[in-house]
Amino acid sequence: VPGLESVVIVGASLAGLRAAEALRRAGFAGTLTLVGAEHHLPYDRPPLSKQLLLGTWEVERTALSSQEGIDKLALDLQLGIAATKLDVRRREVHLADGGRVGFDGLIIATGATPRRLPGQPDLPGVHMLRTLDDSLAVRAAFDAGARVAVIGAGFIGCEVAACARQRGLDVTVIEVLSQPLERTLGFQVGAAAAGIHRGHGVEFRLGTSVVGFEGRDRLEGVRLGDGSVVPADVAVIGIGVAPETGWLQDSGLMLRDGVVCNAALESSVEDIFAAGDVCRWENPLFGAEMRVEHWTNAVQQGMAAARNLLAPRDERRPFPSVPYVWSDQYDFTIMAIGHCSAPDVVEIKHGSLESGRFVALYGRNGRLEMAVGFGMPAELNAYRGLVVRASFADALDHELPED
Ligand SMILES: Cc1cc2nc3c(=O)[nH]c(=O)nc-3n(C[C@H](O)[C@H](O)[C@H](O)COP(=O)(O)OP(=O)(O)OC[C@H]3O[C@@H](n4cnc5c(N)ncnc54)[C@H](O)[C@@H]3O)c2cc1C
Repeated sequence: VPGLESVVIVGASLAGLRAAEALRRAGFAGTLTLVGAEHHLPYDRPPLSKQLLLGTWEVERTALSSQEGIDKLALDLQLGIAATKLDVRRREVHLADGGRVGFDGLIIATGATPRRLPGQPDLPGVHMLRTLDDSLAVRAAFDAGARVAVIGAGFIGCEVAACARQRGLDVTVIEVLSQPLERTLGFQVGAAAAGIHRGHGVEFRLGTSVVGFEGRDRLEGVRLGDGSVVPADVAVIGIGVAPETGWLQDSGLMLRDGVVCNAALESSVEDIFAAGDVCRWENPLFGAEMRVEHWTNAVQQGMAAARNLLAPRDERRPFPSVPYVWSDQYDFTIMAIGHCSAPDVVEIKHGSLESGRFVALYGRNGRLEMAVGFGMPAELNAYRGLVVRASFADALDHELPED
């Protein structure tokens, strides 16, 4: 691309690294700067609430690339340095060490940061789980043998609870909604998840909020809205994340719960793209703006943003995507294809809620909007091509291919 000599990527994690690799693969030979706030080389987050907590993986296995792979990218790699400001007029990123890097093209991949509870204290024993360092701290607490309170029963909270139980620890899960995973999977399927966790010995305090923490020098318990206290040595808080856009606040870029982008992942300023958890883009498949906080999306958007940055302006392609997420809990995997916040109808197509192994189909306005599998990956995959594209009735009638 004429005039594109320097590219800066901010955020040295999944979306950022995949973007850098895609740029080089496509032949971009200019200066490529990758800026990351963390000191670590890019690593993968899903194992942080799974294999690493269980103790079955060591840190090295979470690397997203070998040192050799990183070296081959010929990066100007700035790790342990946060970007603090974006100057779109001068086309410069300001860094926490006082430095500035100019760019012709920019990819924003700063991901997301865990939300804190109101008044959350910095008390030993109270943890969040987003980074490698967070995961190692929780693992050390598990190693010491602890009574565990998990606050928030989304995917990460449920995975932490499963790991803690598999390690023989006492676990109480506290959730303000009436079932775990309810926000993404709805009440009925959430209730099935609760049944599975109870079967493994997890205690639930549902429909309850946390109002405080007991303990002066370290955590002793979690106080709930009804006045009761859940005794705990470790609390892991997983109540969701917010896109990391603080450093862009006065940049002039359009921000709204993320960096607002068009269908081609380009922000409101030319040649500035976003990818991954921080990106809110117009998803042409849904005809709606979306921000997705899942692994596959970060990989695919990182690559797509790189491709579009290199393409001539009239050849930039939209990024249509059906969201996909998996979550490993105990001996099975939950998978969700699609997205449906308010279904009109949920039908169990294969298996049963009672058995804890099933495929559930979610319909809205007559369309199949989401398919969820608890176990049963082969059955679930049969719906992959139908989500968003098929009517709910056709999805219900869909016959699985004979194996
Ligand atoms: C514990 C855990 C388990 C998960 N498990 C699953 C799973 O099973 N399945 C699934 O689909 N998804 C899972 N996810 C989600 C998935 O990991 C994320 O969607 C993915 O990491 C997003 O990648 P990203 O590159 O957009 O952002 P991130 O991975 O958040 O990376 C952003 C990077 O940018 C850096 N950064 C932020 N601000 C600045 C700044 N100002 N300057 C420089 N650098 C900055 C951050 O330090 C970070 O390293 C999990 C996430 C977590 C935390």
